[in-house]
Amino acid sequence: MSKDAVLKLIKDEDVAYVDIRFTDPRGKLQHVTVMADQVDEDFLDEGFMFDGSSIAGWKSIEASDMKLLPDTESVYIDPFYAEKTICLHCTVVEPDTNEPYNRDPRGTALLAEAYLKSSGIGDAAFFGPEAEFFIFDDVRYSNTMNKVSYEVDALDAAWNTDTEYEVGNTGHRPGIKGGYFPVNPVDHGQDIRSEMLSTMKRMGMKVDKHHHEVASCQHELGLIFSSLTDQGDQLQKYKYVIHNVAEAYGKSATFMPKPIYGDNGTGMHVNMSIWKDGKPLFAGDKYADLSDEALWFIGGILKHAKTLNAFTNPSTNSYKRLIPGFEAPVLRAYSARNRSGCVRIPWTESPKAKRVEARFPDPSANPYLCFAALLMAGLDGIKNKIDPGEAMDKNLYDLPPEELEGIPTVCGSLREAMDSLKADHEFLLAGDVFTKDQIEGYIDLKMEEIELFEHTPHPVEFGMYYSC
Ligand code: GLU
Ligand code: MG
Ligand code: MG
Repeated sequence: MSKDAVLKLIKDEDVAYVDIRFTDPRGKLQHVTVMADQVDEDFLDEGFMFDGSSIAGWKSIEASDMKLLPDTESVYIDPFYAEKTICLHCTVVEPDTNEPYNRDPRGTALLAEAYLKSSGIGDAAFFGPEAEFFIFDDVRYSNTMNKVSYEVDALDAAWNTDTEYEVGNTGHRPGIKGGYFPVNPVDHGQDIRSEMLSTMKRMGMKVDKHHHEVASCQHELGLIFSSLTDQGDQLQKYKYVIHNVAEAYGKSATFMPKPIYGDNGTGMHVNMSIWKDGKPLFAGDKYADLSDEALWFIGGILKHAKTLNAFTNPSTNSYKRLIPGFEAPVLRAYSARNRSGCVRIPWTESPKAKRVEARFPDPSANPYLCFAALLMAGLDGIKNKIDPGEAMDKNLYDLPPEELEGIPTVCGSLREAMDSLKADHEFLLAGDVFTKDQIEGYIDLKMEEIELFEHTPHPVEFGMYYSC
């Protein structure tokens, strides 16, 4: 929407507030609310000053003034506030020069799109993320958490009995782990998911479906593909709606990658394609009807996967998901047939729908940085014609140890991902899309999380070592 159209909307709809929103390096949506009568053409042109030093991973206190520049194309009406409020997503700029601030994730996404165009490889990159999530706080949650604590306590045989676990549950009712697709009441999330999806639709988002997922209390809604920065905006709205509808139901939603021991974790598969001159670049006559460019794109993703983990799997908890046996990938392999490798080529007859699905990302990722880093790795693959090797059309979880040898893996910890980012980041710096300063700041931020996690005694350790 143009600036004039936003100002007209404020007037015509009697809007009371304008919420200006931006995303911090960790991926959390932040906001500040301005009275609508303060918002005029100058405000939209000149932006809003704020203290950047209070955002983790941004400026130091000596140089803290920063500016939020609203992107009027991103406008939507907030569905949760009591007062009529429109929201605008912003990029962050230096106050004196209006130059993009190099640690602003949304700015990085815009630069990645500009780099794609300038590279001549394509003119648009489309992203389709499938962000799963859990909804907790109902009766099933308390049962599930009991189950977790019993499993965590598995070393203590006296506690780990079915009888103990069933205490208090004297009637028959649908099980906690009901499965993937059964109808209600086994699927207990129909109404809440429908309300989430309808809310997104009312906000103008392109959404198409919802369903229960494999783990207990786990769900997924369908976001239709869009261009890189716009899809970053959409994913921020997706999470915002899910958190707030869950809250309205007296529950809580989490995008944490592995909240339950021994059950599927939460992935965010990212489907990607590049288009040039109105044609899909990834459709061709090679393996799985892919083009050479698509295979090289996969080559880049697999080559840089460990560095990508720093952005696609940026929490210490991410690495509890990336283990065999739970539909999450471990091996750096690709296939059209199975879901156990890092990259899958979903089956489609339509060249327009030809895409590559990265299966390792999870929704603890900052969407702008995650999509930008994936695109940069894929473009590096295309530029350097990186061969992805042979496809692995086997169930990779079942491979015998001798066949597993030599197949590279994703990172096993956030610390390893940070080490990989330190060692391999030239491909991110192409076209100044990411900067060294931004990467250093990001590593510092993540090292704080890593050290807190590594230095904190874990409940499982008490089970294993307390009586040693
Ligand atoms: N939850 C699985 C994961 O951790 C993915 C399940 C699916 O294929 O949708 O990635
Ligand atoms: Mg799924
Ligand atoms: Mg998928």
